[in-house]
Amino acid sequence: MRKPLIAGNWKMNGTKDGITDLVTILVAGEVNNVDMLVIPPFVYLEQVGRELGESGIRLGAQNVDWRAQGALTGEIEASMLKEVGCELCLTGHSERRQLFAETDDQVACKFKACLEHDVTPILCVGETLQQRQAGQTMEVVLRQVRSVMEAVGPAGIGQGIVAYEPVWAIGTGESASPEQAEEVHGNIRQAIARDGPATAEKLRILYGGSVNSENAAELFRMEDIDGALVGGASLIGKEFLTICELAARGMEN
Ligand code: PEP
Repeated sequence: MRKPLIAGNWKMNGTKDGITDLVTILVAGEVNNVDMLVIPPFVYLEQVGRELGESGIRLGAQNVDWRAQGALTGEIEASMLKEVGCELCLTGHSERRQLFAETDDQVACKFKACLEHDVTPILCVGETLQQRQAGQTMEVVLRQVRSVMEAVGPAGIGQGIVAYEPVWAIGTGESASPEQAEEVHGNIRQAIARDGPATAEKLRILYGGSVNSENAAELFRMEDIDGALVGGASLIGKEFLTICELAARGMEN
């Protein structure tokens, strides 16, 4: 049985005070039987780490550079993330791929760098609407997964987490249906199983794309959906906690 993970990607949102209020709500309402993760902007990482205190809620980062520290203005190395208490890090979020032109190769380097510094990478993959309409969903998603597998092997990918996030569902209010998501999750697991069956069985594959308290339960009922990567709804404390509770309840069924 894979323990669900619910990750809140706060993107470029927040103020010091607003974040304190949000973390206070999350810590007070911490949910059992589910891994909870918050992913604030870099500049708030230490603050959030402090405010999470002894709670079991984990801290993650939105991005990382793969190179060793040095003359790379504006970049952050994985060892730095580790030093400020980050246990996990997103790699290849579609906003990074689309707005900052990150390539599959760069994403693979980021994933590998995280593993080397004992930070658990979350590999985000997903197709655009145009690619889905052209029937290219599996081709695109599996290419993104394979590119990381080639860099770190099936055992390496098993030390991380995968998040399937159809680009057309991110921030649009239009989630993939549970069946659409399950089809892709199942295919990702099968593709990994060909090289690493034990890894594939244990690997957590999250769904992301307009997850909220209204649609989460039906997504979590799906066999290969092991939690969610939540954007907008993670900025509302009660909403995020409800999604965590639905994931924990899904475990009981
Ligand atoms: C995301 O940014 O990873 C995301 C899934 O956003 P939203 O939940 O707002 O669609």
